[in-house]
Amino acid sequence: MTKNYILDWTFPNLGKYYRNVPPIRGSLNERLKDAKRLGLTRIEVPFDLVREENDEYLVLNKKIGDVITKDDFVLLYGDNSSKFEGYYVLHTDPELKRAHTLYWNLAEWRNRYLESIVEFSDFVGKPPSAIEFHPSKPKRSKKYMIYSILEAFDKFKGAGFSPYIMIENRTGMYISTVNDMINFYKEVSENLSPNELSKFGFCIDISQLYTQMRKDPVNDLKKLPKDYILGWHIHYRHKPPSNQDSIGWKSIAKLISETENAFYLPEVFKFNDVIKTIKYIENMLKH
Ligand SMILES: [Zn+2]
Repeated sequence: MTKNYILDWTFPNLGKYYRNVPPIRGSLNERLKDAKRLGLTRIEVPFDLVREENDEYLVLNKKIGDVITKDDFVLLYGDNSSKFEGYYVLHTDPELKRAHTLYWNLAEWRNRYLESIVEFSDFVGKPPSAIEFHPSKPKRSKKYMIYSILEAFDKFKGAGFSPYIMIENRTGMYISTVNDMINFYKEVSENLSPNELSKFGFCIDISQLYTQMRKDPVNDLKKLPKDYILGWHIHYRHKPPSNQDSIGWKSIAKLISETENAFYLPEVFKFNDVIKTIKYIENMLKH
């Protein structure tokens, strides 16, 4: 995508884009402008359920945790009539906030959520390069999360596009360890066509994995076949990684550089931390 860096980085979602007046979550073009300052052309776009923050639910006249739909997009992301010239990765709701629930166990909800992604692609004028989904608690994910993936492939195919589909690990949730990923991949591979399977994989959040495993996750990660991995979230508790962390970033840097075509995200919240994170990892790859 870009020749400026060794790895193919995506510009992250930052705190500065959120505000009290529409567009409440900030526009895509605003993000792209910042991304371009770093020589990047792909941005991450947050696609959370309706939030409490900034009175979003009041502006949208919805309940906290509702699925956002096409009537909401202009209020959240601005008028998109000035075309979006970049690329984007859609980061769907991570279920971090109170009253945000991913009902992967409910067919009707899954359909509504996937439909809203199709509507959003129409709104932007192009589909996302990749979509990140998050596991919920085991009771809402075990036996059901698989349907969300199969239905996502069907839904997007029906809409005429084929983004990469990733699942991000989350501490304490249905997919939180490397073993969880291996088991889930087996389930998925039995149900997807080879073509679809080539577009499915995990987005590995190293910091979340570290919190879950309570140790440097590098040895576990080495057990994970490379073709299971489509993305990496790089940060240490949403700060740039450093030599003081209990994670051996040097071996992590080498490991993550070995996954072909992966999406790399410096998952930090401040603009200056984006380039710090990128440089920290890339310097390790150079020396
Ligand atoms: Zn992450």
